[in-house]
Amino acid sequence: MENKKQNDFPGLKPLSTSKEWKLLYFQHGRPGLEVSHPFKGLCRHCEIREICSIEKPVSGVWRCEYYQPKVTKKSNLYENVIKQLEKAEEVIHCDKDICEILAGTMNELVVHFPVKMDDDRVKMLTGYRVQHNNALGPFKGGLRFHPMVDIDEVRGLATLMTWKTALVNIPFGGAKGGIQIDPADFSPEELEKITRRFTYALGNNIGPEYDIPAPDVNTNPKIMAWILDTYMSTMTPTERNRCIHVVTGKPLEAGGSQGRDKATGQGVVFLIEKWAKDRGFDLNGASYIVQGFGNVGSWASRLLKHHGARLMAVEDVSGAIRNKEGIDADELTEYVRKNKGLVQGYPKAEAIDHEKFFSTKADIFIPAALENQITADTAEILDVKLVAEGANGPTDPEGDKVLHRRRIDVIPDILCNSGGVIVSYFEWLQNKRSEFWEMEEIDQKLKKIIVSAYERVCQAANEHKVDMRTAAQIVAINRLEMVYKERGIFP
Ligand code: NAD
Repeated sequence: MENKKQNDFPGLKPLSTSKEWKLLYFQHGRPGLEVSHPFKGLCRHCEIREICSIEKPVSGVWRCEYYQPKVTKKSNLYENVIKQLEKAEEVIHCDKDICEILAGTMNELVVHFPVKMDDDRVKMLTGYRVQHNNALGPFKGGLRFHPMVDIDEVRGLATLMTWKTALVNIPFGGAKGGIQIDPADFSPEELEKITRRFTYALGNNIGPEYDIPAPDVNTNPKIMAWILDTYMSTMTPTERNRCIHVVTGKPLEAGGSQGRDKATGQGVVFLIEKWAKDRGFDLNGASYIVQGFGNVGSWASRLLKHHGARLMAVEDVSGAIRNKEGIDADELTEYVRKNKGLVQGYPKAEAIDHEKFFSTKADIFIPAALENQITADTAEILDVKLVAEGANGPTDPEGDKVLHRRRIDVIPDILCNSGGVIVSYFEWLQNKRSEFWEMEEIDQKLKKIIVSAYERVCQAANEHKVDMRTAAQIVAINRLEMVYKERGIFP
């Protein structure tokens, strides 16, 4: 344990490498070995105090013993989403009653459920599912496993889903869910039990024609397969095979679709291509930086590489890395796969801090991690031409003003990351019709839908003389307003 390198402690944010620091290595909550460490660290999670002691999780990142997930929240996503809605409503003078409907959520479910851990102790966990609107079709939206998941975050994300499905014109409404956990704290067996128990607790609040979850942060096809299997197990034998479309983003073998895994990243890249074409900008030799190297970030990076663009820097929960000569996105993906999902320690790049990551000069920035990352401060130091929002809500309202003032183009989240829900729609259709579509067909259909949504947004931006985010919001509200006007309000 002597003289461990910084890379052996992903999760610690380096402050200086000049001094020897003693780290107290905790096991099962009790102080264990004392080790020398050649750098002084700050816990990346709580960012409150210098590390003198750390706890080892089952897998994933290290954290300091003072880690309190709830205190780290920056700004309220739901409030931001509503502010954005109000901004668009002012431009188009939307019907007041319809505005009121759209500003609130329809159903909010909070479930507390017990799960037996590997050591036989029982842990009470909290899960959420918020259904924002289903005027256009069944509720649709991802499930997130993260310590910062709370009701406001889920409300905000569910609302964004309603705008997204309305904007790209697919017959779904908006929902979102999650469990307030750090998956790194649990073994794979515990995660399976948590997923299954949560699914059971949701009961008939989800369903193939009612509310259809999908993967999001820290959830993946395997987790979707557990949800499907649990949901099917609660059905009568004759119903069982009629509910395979209760979740999307499943593994291919369990009824998933070609291209769903890469869909969100692929959508981001189709839109970057379109943006470049419209501006006569050559992607060959262009540079980009990416925050978040999970599903969305890694796929977008790999697909952009095929256009001859160079990845300069990447940041994830374990820290940031940079290489002025470029980082090979395929090699990094392979490294991350073997390194518990983390970029830290990648040998062909130098470790840099958060500020250096944000100020790295590049043509394109793809935020593909969490919300509220582009704030007034970080927007001020970004040195890019385009922000292509792979993540949901990555820019807070103050950050947005700065991007606008600095004339940095933005492809807003509800448009930019809609590839995921579009291919989820394809998966849902294939399941209902017992069909299997080829990758080529999926890609063609995805490109057509997402590029035509981009064109509608550009048209709305020109017509109303507004930024792309407001324009995307306007296209979405217009569609919902038309549906409410035609159908009326029951009774
Ligand atoms: P993921 O769990 O696969 O990856 C998340 C990435 O973000 C990881 O690399 C993680 O290390 C990084 N990260 C987490 N906290 C961070 C922090 N504080 N600083 C820097 N990096 C951090 O999740 P994903 O599915 O790729 O989702 C990423 C974003 O894209 C989310 O906002 C999600 O809502 C959005 N999104 C995902 C999909 C999808 O199909 N998966 C679709 C639409 C939108």
